Order: sequence, then structure tokens, then C-alpha cells
Amino acid sequence: MESGVDPLVCGWPPGQPSGATNIASKLAILSLVFISSATAQPTYDLLLKGGHVIDAKNKISAVRDVALQGGRVAEVSARIDPAKAKKVIDVTGLYVTPGLIDIHAHTYAGTGERRSYAGDLSIYPDGHTFRVGVTTVADAGCAGWRNFEDFKDRVIDRSKTRIYAFLNIVGNGMRGGRYESDLTDMEVKPAAAMALKHKGLIVGIKTAHFPGPEWTPVDNAIAAGNIANIPVMVDFGSDRPERPLSELLTKKLRPGDIYTHVYSGLRGEQTESGHANPALFEGRKRGVLFDVGHGGGSFLWRVAVPLIKDGFAPDSISTDIHNGSNNNGMKDMLNVMDKFLAMGMPVDDVIAKSTWNPAREIRREQLGNLSVGSPADVAVLRLENGNFGFVDMYGALLKGTKKLSCEMTFRDGKLVYELNGLSRTEWDKLPANYRYQGDYTWDDRARTFTSETKKQ
Ligand SMILES: [Zn+2]
Repeated sequence: MESGVDPLVCGWPPGQPSGATNIASKLAILSLVFISSATAQPTYDLLLKGGHVIDAKNKISAVRDVALQGGRVAEVSARIDPAKAKKVIDVTGLYVTPGLIDIHAHTYAGTGERRSYAGDLSIYPDGHTFRVGVTTVADAGCAGWRNFEDFKDRVIDRSKTRIYAFLNIVGNGMRGGRYESDLTDMEVKPAAAMALKHKGLIVGIKTAHFPGPEWTPVDNAIAAGNIANIPVMVDFGSDRPERPLSELLTKKLRPGDIYTHVYSGLRGEQTESGHANPALFEGRKRGVLFDVGHGGGSFLWRVAVPLIKDGFAPDSISTDIHNGSNNNGMKDMLNVMDKFLAMGMPVDDVIAKSTWNPAREIRREQLGNLSVGSPADVAVLRLENGNFGFVDMYGALLKGTKKLSCEMTFRDGKLVYELNGLSRTEWDKLPANYRYQGDYTWDDRARTFTSETKKQ
């Protein structure tokens, strides 16, 4: 498979002023002397130099230098003096984006429960996130109020990935059909109380996989969402004439609630003539948000392509990653983003729908952007050109010519993943007895080796 770096439109370096007068150049030299003496000590931990920044919140899509300091974004400018940073990494030709946010993931692993999303079907996030630029996930309802604190202790508190959660309206969470169809375990008050107790982690209420004709799961999820003042994410379960999609989108859901699996085609998202159900547009007008949630059974080209042609793009791109989905049509976050590139969506939009939009959907507006002062969650992505193929849940193929790969991921200003060693020095240019090269101010792994060195 041939591939190469996408030639980015480059606005840097800006043209140097020409024909400066003698006085002006002397002034310039004086100011340079002043600046260099003032910055004898580097100000920044890290400088990502020459990349193409895509930051939807700040409406930036241009070549910019990005400086990180103390785990925060410190400066984003057309040119930042390399002398101001302890460490400079050249990212020319690459995209620099906020860390990707996947708001539909299944991460309640480790309980040992078989065939359960509160168990074997879930993934430990760190092995799946950083390598594709994801720094934040929202677990989509694996745990309910009965087992959320076990999930928190078992996974959330022990992961490097930033994990939020949609709390399942089912007290037992996603432990399988027997639990998930039990109407008596969809209690509003304890769910809302748990959401309020863990306000910092629980970003919404989830309802999912319900096979019956009742509205109870949706109604109770919304009631809990009202008490806790958080949105609801709906996986609408089986398609039932007693509770049609149009009623959900035009009457039940509130502005800010999220309809996931929008391109599954399983619940009337597409009309018989192949077009987008008008209820989708009506829901959008009311402020309902639409999420991809690809997963193992919720994304079809024959639904997504015509709906997007009809003008129905998603608000957020997400994976629905779990152990049943990630080795099939859905591989990972970048693969799902690639599918939207393959359908003709511009890269700026694909990034916005994977960063700033999901940050707003889960009401974490400090994330998903590169504003000065924001947590320095950053992805450095390469857009390759070549011949690629993308398959849906039934294995149908759509060919594409663009593919994103992740070069580097930073979480809170620390390098947590790197593919090609862009931050590193060639081994034969290092001292003969070289040890770990990296500084804990920007390199997460350096801490391991520093403590090893101390032990010796
Ligand atoms: Zn899911």
C-alpha cells in the first residue's frame, strides 16, 4: 500500500520584513538581545513546531507553533522562538489537534463476568486510546448505580486515559439481556443520586439494548437526567412500533440529549426510499445531538452514505469500542474518522466532530480545544494518501484515498505515545553508554526510568 505525507497548505514561516531601515534593524537587534537575555531560561516544557493546528473552538486551521507548560497549553502562535522551550519537536507536515474524545466506549473490564459489558466485553482503555490520539473517553453505560463505584475503583481511577461515564439507567448496568430488560431495576432516584455524587465523572445517563415496547427506560433516563442536570444518551434498542423513532426525536428527547448509532439503520433512521428520516432533521432543530457509535452492529455504508448526501452529518464521531467490535468493521477512533474522510467530509470537520463537538456534548468545554490554559491533551496526526479500504458492520467495502495515523499523543502535557520516535535522537548520535533520553516535564515514560536510576 503506497502512502505519503499529505502536503499541507503552509502559512509558515511568515515573510521576513524586507528593506528595513538601519535604525529599525538596530532596534530589532536590541530587542532580540533583550528577549534572549529575558529568556535565557526556557519558559516552556515543550514546543511542537511547524504543525498544522486544527482547533475548532478557536477557529484555527493553519500552521502554528504550540507550546506546552506545566501540563497546560501555554502559547499557540505563528512562530515561537525555539530557545523558549526545553524541548522542541519538529512536526512539520503533520496535524496538531486537541486530544481526541471518544464519547462512546466500553471500558468496564476486569470483573471476570462473561458476555457482559460490565466484564469481558469491555476493554481496558489505555491499550486502545493513546495509540490513536484519544486522550478522553466516555464509557457508554457499562455500569449503573449499583456497580459504578466498582467500575471507578477498577478502571477509572487506575487508567491514564481520562475516563468519564454515562451511567446506565439500569442499576446493574450492561450485564446482559436479563438485567437490561428488567423494568424494575431502572430506578430514577438512586441513578440521579449516584450521578450527583460523582459529578466530576458522570457526564450523562444511558439507556440501551431495551427490547420491550415500553417507554420506561427512556422516560426514567430523562427523569434522572433532569434531577442531575445532565444529558441522556440513547441506544434505542429494538425497533418497536409502540415507541417510534420520530416520537423519541421530536417529543421525548431534550436539547443536548444524544442519539447514538445514527447510521445503524436499525430503527427507521432511513426511510424506505433510502433517505434520511425527516425526524432526524426535526430532532436536530430541537437541539438533539447525533452520535456515530459505530460498534460491531451499528454502521452501514448503505445508510451512512445516503444520509450524509442528504445533509445529515453526525455531531460527534465515536467508536462504540468493545471486545466484540474492535477487530471487525470498526478498528479504532482514527478508522471511524477515516470513514468520514472517505465519504468526502473535510478533515477540519472530521477533527471538530472528534474533539470540540464531543467535549461540548459531555459538557467538558475545558477539553477538545487548544486554548491557552487548557489541559495539554494533544494529538499529532499524519494524513496519509494512498489506496485504502474501509468496511462496515456487514463487511461491505468503501475505498478511500486518505488515512489518519497517530504520531504522538500527549496527556496533560506528557508524551504518552509515539509511533516513529519524532521526539528522539538517533542511537549512534548519543553517548556510547546512553541511558533513557527524556525529561519528565514532557515525557511520561521518563518517570519510570528516573525511579529505576535512583534504585540502582
Ligand atoms: Zn455501545
